[in-house]
Amino acid sequence: MSNVAKIAEIAVFLPLDYSLHYSVPEVLSTRIKAGQRVIVPVGKRNLIGGLVLSTFSVIPRDLEIDPARLRPITALIDEVPILPEKMVPFIRWLSSYYFYPIGETVNTILPYGLRVVTSIKLTVTEEGLKALNQGVLSEVEENVVKAILDLSNPTISRVVKNLAIPDCFRFITRLRQKGMLTTLESLREERRYKKTAKFVIAVDKDFPAPRKKSEKLEKLWSLLQQNPEGILLAELEKQVPGAYYWVKKLKKTGIVRVEERELSYDLFENDVSVERGASITPTKAQEEIINAISSYVSKKSYQVFLLHGVTGSGKTEVYNNLIDLALRCDLQAMVIVPEIALSTHLERVLYERFGHIVAVLHSGLTPRERFDQWRGILEGKYKIVVGARSGVFAPLNNLGLIIVDEEQDSSLKQDSGLRYHGRDTAIMRAKLEDIPVVLGSATPSLDSYHNALIGKYKLLELPERIHKRSLPHVEVVDMRREGRKTTIFSRQLLDEITKALNKNDQILLFLNRRGFATFLICLVCGEVIKCERCAISLTYHKRTNDLRCHYCGFVRPVVSECPKCGNPTIKLYGFGTEKIEEEYKKLFPGTRTRRLDSDAVRSRRLYARIFKAVRERKIDVLIGTQMLAKGHDFPGITLVGVVSADTTLQLPDFRASEITFQLLTQVAGRAGRGEYPGKVLIQTYNPHHYVFHYTQSHDYKGFATEELKLRKQLNYPPFTRLIRFLVTGPSEKKVKKVAMIIAGKCVELIKESPEFADVNVLGPAEAPLYLVKKQFRYHLFVRAPSARKVQNFSHRLISSFSRGRDTRGVKIIVDVDPINVM
Ligand SMILES: [Zn+2]
Ligand SMILES: [Zn+2]
Repeated sequence: MSNVAKIAEIAVFLPLDYSLHYSVPEVLSTRIKAGQRVIVPVGKRNLIGGLVLSTFSVIPRDLEIDPARLRPITALIDEVPILPEKMVPFIRWLSSYYFYPIGETVNTILPYGLRVVTSIKLTVTEEGLKALNQGVLSEVEENVVKAILDLSNPTISRVVKNLAIPDCFRFITRLRQKGMLTTLESLREERRYKKTAKFVIAVDKDFPAPRKKSEKLEKLWSLLQQNPEGILLAELEKQVPGAYYWVKKLKKTGIVRVEERELSYDLFENDVSVERGASITPTKAQEEIINAISSYVSKKSYQVFLLHGVTGSGKTEVYNNLIDLALRCDLQAMVIVPEIALSTHLERVLYERFGHIVAVLHSGLTPRERFDQWRGILEGKYKIVVGARSGVFAPLNNLGLIIVDEEQDSSLKQDSGLRYHGRDTAIMRAKLEDIPVVLGSATPSLDSYHNALIGKYKLLELPERIHKRSLPHVEVVDMRREGRKTTIFSRQLLDEITKALNKNDQILLFLNRRGFATFLICLVCGEVIKCERCAISLTYHKRTNDLRCHYCGFVRPVVSECPKCGNPTIKLYGFGTEKIEEEYKKLFPGTRTRRLDSDAVRSRRLYARIFKAVRERKIDVLIGTQMLAKGHDFPGITLVGVVSADTTLQLPDFRASEITFQLLTQVAGRAGRGEYPGKVLIQTYNPHHYVFHYTQSHDYKGFATEELKLRKQLNYPPFTRLIRFLVTGPSEKKVKKVAMIIAGKCVELIKESPEFADVNVLGPAEAPLYLVKKQFRYHLFVRAPSARKVQNFSHRLISSFSRGRDTRGVKIIVDVDPINVM
């Protein structure tokens, strides 16, 4: 131990797994604080942004640094920290647990406007100009030099992009070595906000008949009429491809006007109005739950609560009361909700109740708005943050309560970059800040439910719907009785649709989008071909005309005869919402239908408009994917038809049954929320699957017990923990080879160290989505009995794995506790 001048530990904004240390110049020594951004030199580069993680004057014993050799910090970017210091341990945990570089973890947390980017500008030297004029450069070199001279701002990335020469970087390096090019680094904050956008407005009501009838033009015109206040040009183009062209023409003749307008964001624009709850006084059941949690809020003490409440049981009122309590204790609250296209009921209720102290963070915000909210939170303007998963990073400094609503929702898990789970990170943040966290759900994830059963979480239950409204009647339709041809609508569903239409009721037809994988099913007995080792449905591969297991890599030929009943009725199975819409329109022409899935509806505005139309009963039948299942009330819908439960049930995923149960329960929750009782029809070729039994009786516990038993037998989470290694790259051979090398390393590690005897490896196998954007994908899973073990093993694996020629051009993505295994 030795006393030295101040030292700062910095997370630099580069893909490094560790933080770096710097000496703090005298002038900065009293101003520097954790949570500020700084500029530092790294290697040969001088201007790299970074975040101060800690500062100290006494070197900790376990740290091997020589203060004399440290380089000084160049400058401070912020005088005031942009993150509370208490978030530093949280950032360290995120980086280590999710195997993500610490500086890039910080960059993920920060809103776009606070990210710092270094760009490198190229300049041609005297020497270079001379060589160009003398004509002594090679053809490629000449092109590089000319490109740099031509560009107004020749950053390396722009030059490379402009030239489009393979291996262009090599030539730039060579020219630099010859002294013909120099580089200049510059640093900027990434603040390119788009504040305005073009709107198109129809000037006249009458549209002069075009010489040639054009469907596109007619559609465009009707959209303009529907939006007399103007419509975003980009939105118009989305709906009518080619709109740019038409608008230009119409503008010339003065039929439309184009206006540049400021994009403002109204939190709940076009949204259905908030129903103010009839009573604010909690029921007795709610009261008991509030009491169970409240002392943890007021005393600030860590505990995870799992609030299991059936749909419509009044969880929102519990949240409201707890937030109220936190505010009275002068603490702040954070509410995490699933990411959906439209603000949820909960967001609206909180905004209505608490007003302008609520910050809302979600994907509908522009970067500018996100940045403003962040600043507001830092400055203490907001006391409550409601947000999708990234809301968990909000820089609240005095947090007293975290609520994660719909904790089972898969959208809480980020699918790229820092692959964090919003719920799990919320729990860790609560733990580090020593405060309670409430996980709410009508169908808790089995992970959370298991934790409650073993006493890690406290289980609280709201078993009844408010006003004792009855749960909808759920019926399972046996598709095997429909004959030997695949049909979309069973006779029973057609019957019920006719009945509902005659009564002027609204109908919801539902199909799970994620069930895209094609599998083989027997139309007579419902048998599905599965992997014998993994109990996962085998996926059909068109390219190779065979069936493959996406966990262990098992391959088998396609069969046409059913192995169970012997009939030649094994058929490929899988279709989409478009097909349903088409088929429906043929059968019921004249009904007002609307399809709602991510293909059909891209904008938030349009989405809101459709929901409004449903509420105003301008739509009879809504056809869609799980977008429909979340957080919305349609009082007029009395019939819900699940067109195929099998697409979800046969997902190549060990969670297939759990996902199906959650979806069906959620979809069923859409029926009969008004004053009329609802009916749900579920079509399936596997009517005796236990999922349906428990869905029909609305028996979560029964389902969880049975499913947990199976998971235990098959060694899947929550009884084990998984880390998925996804290997991708443009060369199929290389990708496969790297996946094999990693698997080989795993086997070696397990053999060498007795502590890892209970770790095992599944795969490598082709990922279900094998080829995405010209990148081949292989994956493998490391499985161990505990989170600690799977973490230790994977950290050891990664450090033993050296990058070399074999891995060039191949990306290895580590996904901890994977949810989407496609
Ligand atoms: Zn069969
Ligand atoms: Zn398998």
